[in-house]
Amino acid sequence: MTQPRAVVIGSGFGGMALAVRLQAAGVQTTIVEKRDKPGGRAYVYEDEGFVFDGGPTVLTAPNAIEELFQVAERDMAEYVELLPVMPFYRLCWEDGYSFDYSNDLDSTNAQIADKSPEDVAGYARFLEYAEEVFQEGYVNLASEPFLDFWSMIRVAPQLMRLQSYRSVYSMVSKFISDPQLRQVYSFHSLLVGGNPFKTSSIYTLIHVLERKWGVFFPRGGTGALVSALVKLFTELGGEIRLGAPVERILTANGQVTGVAAADGWTADAEVVASNADVVHTYRQLLGHEPRAATTARSLLDRRYSMSLFVIYFGTKKRHPNLAHHSVLFGPRYHGLLEDIFERGVLSQDFSLYLHAPTVTDSSLAPPGGEAFYVLSPVPHLGKAKIDWEAEGPRYRDRIFEYLEERYIPGLREDLVTSRIFTPADFASVLNGHLGSAFSLEPVLTQSAYFRVHNRDPNIGGLYFVGAGTHPGAGVPGVVASAKATAGLVLADVGKRRG
Ligand SMILES: Cc1cc2nc3c(=O)[nH]c(=O)nc-3n(C[C@H](O)[C@H](O)[C@H](O)COP(=O)(O)OP(=O)(O)OC[C@H]3O[C@@H](n4cnc5c(N)ncnc54)[C@H](O)[C@@H]3O)c2cc1C
Repeated sequence: MTQPRAVVIGSGFGGMALAVRLQAAGVQTTIVEKRDKPGGRAYVYEDEGFVFDGGPTVLTAPNAIEELFQVAERDMAEYVELLPVMPFYRLCWEDGYSFDYSNDLDSTNAQIADKSPEDVAGYARFLEYAEEVFQEGYVNLASEPFLDFWSMIRVAPQLMRLQSYRSVYSMVSKFISDPQLRQVYSFHSLLVGGNPFKTSSIYTLIHVLERKWGVFFPRGGTGALVSALVKLFTELGGEIRLGAPVERILTANGQVTGVAAADGWTADAEVVASNADVVHTYRQLLGHEPRAATTARSLLDRRYSMSLFVIYFGTKKRHPNLAHHSVLFGPRYHGLLEDIFERGVLSQDFSLYLHAPTVTDSSLAPPGGEAFYVLSPVPHLGKAKIDWEAEGPRYRDRIFEYLEERYIPGLREDLVTSRIFTPADFASVLNGHLGSAFSLEPVLTQSAYFRVHNRDPNIGGLYFVGAGTHPGAGVPGVVASAKATAGLVLADVGKRRG
């Protein structure tokens, strides 16, 4: 009997994690990637001696990545080194207040006591709540495929008990009264594309995830982790084709038969798993397949996460007072989020995430220099009609001016290189629907069973992995989705082969 064959479309973390699991289990797997380098949102740019990770930089739940090496009977330490980052983030406000966020309970309690003594007890109660959510939402359910409505009904009592119908912000506010501390413990849902005022309180589990296992940064950048996974995958016998956008998923009689790429290359496969954007997959890659039409239509009615405006830049000087990860809050919280998620306005003010990886690994910049990226959450293309080609350079200049004034003195004079990535790029380069940076918005009505299923119910052999599936965006999320999808693929292949 020939080896079963699988094609994974896209080399994001979800795609790579699935491909490693399948290849390690004896399924001959090929990854087909549109871009010239692997990693998806974790693509690496190299300019003037600076190395810029394109996307994920806050690495949590390292054990989920380690599991990929374990299923292949390898030792992750021989492929990549994960460096602990401390503090996890420095949160800064315009009034000069800052909070070093970490899993050091003494330092956390001391900072809370300084700011708002009555919130120390509230934080302890919040932690108890979030730990319960973590057990249910991450340990028990993150890698479970929600294929039918009953799977949702079964977990409904737990979801009710944990008040998952409340938003992250509303739940945090139940325990904590200080407005800035409320921001400290609610901003995390933005990391997975959700508005803290709308995202289910289930996402408070991110706080526990970070506390439990820490925050890490791979030596050499997130790109080094991408390279490690590619190395592992190819050593196992997997193949990867880069610069090969898939144009069509081939089907016959309601069953996938392979894929066809734009350059004319085709492959037969009994399993096709898409790590590409879910709308792109259903509308473009399966546009010819009537069995995909209902899902394709229903996806257009869903809510999509915000987009991001990102500037990658390098300076010739170091800035010793900066932390590796900083969140720079602007003057408004709720109002700004309403502008981004609801009103579709590109506001005059912004809240930024500033990445300064040379704080942890100086090899990412030429000697004496510093590599950065800064991102600003902005409305997606369906919410705001912005001509990003014209607006991009103006918006970049506004952000540079703001950073120079408050956090990086002399920035523009010391600037060696910079490049931007806009919502239009999320749409055209990554095929992200409406330029969304994190796919479907993580609200309760779009979670678990209500997300795109890891296995399509109508087309045999078609699977999904990545941010649009359960449990959602973020590296731990997409790696968990790969575990769920791999479980389904391997069980199905096993059944078919008797
Ligand atoms: C700027 C930014 C910062 C982030 N920071 C963090 C962070 O610090 N921590 C964290 O955990 N998460 C972070 N995230 C979220 C996280 O990066 C993503 O949720 C996750 O990496 C998405 O992985 P994925 O498996 O869904 O695939 P993606 O990374 O979305 O990759 C999908 C791949 O499919 C390819 N593709 C699309 N169409 C086709 C086609 N037709 N044919 C072939 N290939 C195709 C694309 O080119 C892409 O390579 C960040 C995201 C962004 C954008």
